[in-house]
Amino acid sequence: MIYRQHFIDGAWTDAKGWSETVLHDSATEQAIGKVVHGTSNEVGAAVAAARSAHAGWAQLPLETRAAYVRAVADRLDDHVDALCAGISAETGMPMKLVRRIQVQAPIAAWRATADAAAQALAETQIAHSHIERVPVGVVAAITPWNYPLHQITGKLAAALMAGCTVVLKPSELAPTAAQMLGKAIEEAALPRGAVNIVFGDGATGESLIAHPQVDMVSFTGSTSVGRHIASVAGQALKRVALELGGKSASVALPEADPALVARHAVSSCFLNSGQTCNAITRLLVPEDQYERYRDLLKAAAGKMALGDPRDESTRMGPLVSSEHRDRVLSFLAEAAGSGMDLITGGPDAPVPATGYFVAPTLFGRVPPQARIAKEEVFGPVLAVLTYASEDEAVRIANDTNYGLAAAVWGEEGRALSLARQLRAGQVDINGAPFNPLAPFGGFGASGTGREGGVHGIAEFTELRAIQAPPTLKS
Ligand code: NAD
Repeated sequence: MIYRQHFIDGAWTDAKGWSETVLHDSATEQAIGKVVHGTSNEVGAAVAAARSAHAGWAQLPLETRAAYVRAVADRLDDHVDALCAGISAETGMPMKLVRRIQVQAPIAAWRATADAAAQALAETQIAHSHIERVPVGVVAAITPWNYPLHQITGKLAAALMAGCTVVLKPSELAPTAAQMLGKAIEEAALPRGAVNIVFGDGATGESLIAHPQVDMVSFTGSTSVGRHIASVAGQALKRVALELGGKSASVALPEADPALVARHAVSSCFLNSGQTCNAITRLLVPEDQYERYRDLLKAAAGKMALGDPRDESTRMGPLVSSEHRDRVLSFLAEAAGSGMDLITGGPDAPVPATGYFVAPTLFGRVPPQARIAKEEVFGPVLAVLTYASEDEAVRIANDTNYGLAAAVWGEEGRALSLARQLRAGQVDINGAPFNPLAPFGGFGASGTGREGGVHGIAEFTELRAIQAPPTLKS
């Protein structure tokens, strides 16, 4: 798989860049391809194409734009197998999960976004003012590797429905989703320039965010890069939306069922080997129930069979790269050396000899100020903390710079009241499933702006109020 073509102005054009990223299969460590990085000239050509397509795309009737967006979903359906194989090899997620979570769910989101647009863009009247939503313009979309098609979809489907045109710079570590999407866009015959894709690394992204013809930057990725992007966009007074990291907490109230909580905590934290921005990575349990939770969590983690993502019996695959594995292991080594209760896993636990594996790891009685309780590890590591009162649980849960997601378990009324005290963009009560139509995004260091459903489309619009003199009543 060699990604040496960009999709610009409706055509695949040969890449002119000289630098590249070599891609490795995260389970076999074999080189499986490379991505040639887009240059500033290629970024410029993509932005120019998006700019010249913008007026035409924005003026299309909403139903026509919706028909194009649904057609993209239909064409993606034709590429499901290739998407599954590529995303699984790149990210390390087991194939059986990839199909449902990484491929079918985002394809459904293309259709759901088309359905939500009329409500998101509905015009309103306030006294004598007519309020309408107009597209921001040309959007730079920059995405990470962990749920590549999902993250691209959250930006592109919404921006297109809002009437924006887009230049996408996908992650250099997971290019398959963008490649297949480019094919689907070509097959769905979208107007030239509505979507442009420039493959590349941070330097390619840097040229894109700084381009004067870009009106808005929509970024998903790490908090450190997000901070930099916000400052560049801020200097140029561009709109910016940031979906960043998290350190999400789950609070188990005393009446919660420990077996159910433990099962959910382990499956949430270890999904995609912990490489999930809204993973619950801190579990807060009542002090007097710690030992019971310890046993149940250990048993649940023991069922996380590590292995090749293509193997049917695998529950947890490797991490995305050797660099990322080493970073996660350094967190584990520090925590293991600091006398915390290592319930299972850890830096020296056995893992398959080949592949970027880290054993599912649980640390117990973690002090709220410990690094693994404060920083995003982005690996299969759950920190179990204890609390003595509900007030203390709220204080610990909110004692973070992040605020992406949270969970509460217990009697529904009490759980709801606690949920309302948590500073997070999404709070699940008693294991409620993910709702792709609900606004998704964070407080504080988890970013700014929302994706998903009507709120995600509105993010790509400006408000315009048009006033005519009020009609005088006789
Ligand atoms: P990253 O920040 O390293 O990279 C993300 C993207 O930004 C990539 O495409 C990369 O090439 C690009 N990039 C890097 N430097 C850049 C620069 N200076 N200018 C422009 N673009 C640049 O993140 P990652 O390692 O790919 O992803 C993991 C991170 O993403 C985690 O922190 C995770 O929490 C976060 N994330 C957040 C969400 C969310 O919705 N909140 C979802 C998924 C991942």
